[in-house]
Amino acid sequence: MTSATAAVWHGPGAGFELAEVPLPDLAEGEVLVRTTAVTLCGSDLHTIAGDRDTDVPTVLGHEMAGEVVATGSDVLAEDGAPLVPGSRVTWTIGTSCGHCARCRRGFPQKCVAVRKYGHAKMSGEWALNGGLATHCHLLAGTGVVTVPAGLPDALVAPANCATATVVSAVRQVGVAGHDTVLVSGCGMLGLTAISYLRSIGVSEVYACDVDLDRRRLAATLGAHSAGPAAIRTLVLDRTAGEGVAVALDFSGSNAAVHADLGLLAIGGRLGLVGSVFPTPGLDLVPENLVRRLLSITGVHNYAAPDLVEAVRFLDRYADRALFGSFVTGSYGLDRITDAVAHAVDERPPRVMLTPETTRK
Ligand SMILES: [Zn+2]
Ligand SMILES: [Zn+2]
Repeated sequence: MTSATAAVWHGPGAGFELAEVPLPDLAEGEVLVRTTAVTLCGSDLHTIAGDRDTDVPTVLGHEMAGEVVATGSDVLAEDGAPLVPGSRVTWTIGTSCGHCARCRRGFPQKCVAVRKYGHAKMSGEWALNGGLATHCHLLAGTGVVTVPAGLPDALVAPANCATATVVSAVRQVGVAGHDTVLVSGCGMLGLTAISYLRSIGVSEVYACDVDLDRRRLAATLGAHSAGPAAIRTLVLDRTAGEGVAVALDFSGSNAAVHADLGLLAIGGRLGLVGSVFPTPGLDLVPENLVRRLLSITGVHNYAAPDLVEAVRFLDRYADRALFGSFVTGSYGLDRITDAVAHAVDERPPRVMLTPETTRK
């Protein structure tokens, strides 16, 4: 085989086009992967709707899983094992150089030389750079994580965006088992967060979402859940008026962020994760932060160890039937338009494509 098939995106209005793309000659440290599954993330849908700018033509999709086809030299997975043809893998959402100031300070996702999958314009040397294709060209500096045997693609595909970002948020905000935690926004990330928090020993989790079905799922995962109108009373009743030690916002809604801040206990920490699109500013009273000893942490993407932890969590702790039910569909690339319509119209946590089922 000398070429891959890609659903190339040409911008809002122009849409997708199925194209044959030559397979790359691999350089040192590079890996060619056969993409077995890709799930549509909220940010893909924002891009397709024209709410966020991306240079075109491009191969969208960054939540994916696959099998190694070839490597350009000896390439090691994050656990130190050599990658060989047939290895099932997932990988970091972008590359990092490991030696710039940002990488050294612990923010590899903001590496000065970062190249992100599913967000870059196709070029001669890097055309297969996203998930909506039969193959993906991994560059040197990508953190590759081996997937345990038996862990289904439907659970693995969201790992390198949704699950790893949740792990990163919990790490950066410093959540401990004795904390009470409010999760705002119960889409894929919020639901994953509830389950992950429970797995690390957090017994008291509250969940807020506007959607009743999502609140029910949150409750199934062990959270006390309520809609925006009732969450304040629920939290204050159950915490004797104190509020929560931690709030994690995955909704990106200013109203929710404002409510989260108002529910923090003394010394509370707010992790902002969902605000990844432009919104108006927020009314903050600095004196409140000072007198109530509050802190706010912005969380965007993650470091490779977070992805290792995400896969470990999915393998050992996630309820496979329930997490599997968050991911629906197995569209070929030729049905990308149907898959996007499914995601937009029915709003399941994730819609999945299986590139190898593409009909030409
Ligand atoms: Zn994403
Ligand atoms: Zn760097």
